[in-house]
Amino acid sequence: MIKKHVVPDVTGLIHHPYVPPAGFAAPQPGVFKASTVYFPSVAAMRQFEWKDKSAYTYGLHGTPTTYTLEERLCALEGGQQCLLVPSGLAALATVALALLQTGDEVLIPDNAYGPNKALAEGELRRYGITHQYYDPMNPDDLSARLNARTRLVWLEAPGSVSMEFPDLPELVRRCKAQGVLCALDNTWGAGLAFPPFDLLRDGRLGVDISAHALTKYPSGGGDVLMGSIVTCDAALHLKIKLCHMRLGLGVGANDVEAVLRSLPSVALRYAAHDQSARRLAVWWQTQAACSQVLHPALAGAPGHAHWQQLCGQHTDLAAGLFSVILHARYSLAQVDAFCDGLRLFKIGYSWGGPVSLVMPYALQSMRKQNIGHLSSGTLVRFSIGLESAEELRADLEQSAALHLQTC
Ligand SMILES: *Cc1c(COP(=O)(O)O)cnc(C)c1O
Repeated sequence: MIKKHVVPDVTGLIHHPYVPPAGFAAPQPGVFKASTVYFPSVAAMRQFEWKDKSAYTYGLHGTPTTYTLEERLCALEGGQQCLLVPSGLAALATVALALLQTGDEVLIPDNAYGPNKALAEGELRRYGITHQYYDPMNPDDLSARLNARTRLVWLEAPGSVSMEFPDLPELVRRCKAQGVLCALDNTWGAGLAFPPFDLLRDGRLGVDISAHALTKYPSGGGDVLMGSIVTCDAALHLKIKLCHMRLGLGVGANDVEAVLRSLPSVALRYAAHDQSARRLAVWWQTQAACSQVLHPALAGAPGHAHWQQLCGQHTDLAAGLFSVILHARYSLAQVDAFCDGLRLFKIGYSWGGPVSLVMPYALQSMRKQNIGHLSSGTLVRFSIGLESAEELRADLEQSAALHLQTC
């Protein structure tokens, strides 16, 4: 006899009448995942407006989870509007694609995050958008390159890899004087070292756009890719938001949850990374193997006085990131062996996570302009994690003793 199969109430599994009681409250906000979002009625569907976040219309346009992170990032950076994108690089690209068109020109600091230059040399060039690289340490060089076609100026403080800290307020003033939008890649400052929208701390001067790789400190885990674009101008925000929507740049709610989970400790972690990094950078200054330490908070480093003005005398904060130039007498093979010989430091890109990282860079091939302020030799960048600074120093010592003997 065939057993009669009881048909489950599949509809009841989907349209169940149970509604959990309202009023749940806990340290972390809920994670709302959606592509489809329900409208209470057709009339509501026709009325709901996603552009001002007054309603929900589709997962790509935001959920309570993404809106919550966006508002908290505005608080972190002192801005008023925020957009989330799938990576820090996507933040840079979205700003460029939203604001530039054929015939326009973008100016990029010569020491900028490399992939931002690659975007200019690739897609932007293909779209008939030109670019120039300017010397971030010379505001007159920026002024000389500003022209009638300049629509956007990128700023970075300090520059990726070689860590020169520019006179950020002066560069912003030069852009404002010409009425050109300026966008800061604020990944290093993270909204903690200095306020990007209030550089003089009197409400008079700020960047127009702050792009931030949340991948770094806000995530803090080395396990999430995300970026944000913060502004203080509703019209500018809307322009970027429309482009963002048309490009379909959504972020996953679980990734947003991870950043929301880490965000409450970002200031504590940033300060801890900073303290260890400074101790190790100062140690490198005493090492004969090292011809230059590039950390903007150390006296003598390129742009130290500008760091002092913007950060030092206010927050005294810097990211846990610095580079050293190993003496030119070492071969590339010796530098590679030094990096390989580290045990706690892993070899990898990115930064802001718990694990310390090391990466050698071929500086000469990365730069178009004068790098006379940098000594010759091989540049090695360190991202300092949350391990004991003493043990990190011992690790550097053991590998240097093996591979960087002074002869
Ligand atoms: C890492 C980084 C980015 C890009 O972030 P991703 O999330 O890795 O795409 C952009 N700018 C700077 C300065 C960075 O360090």
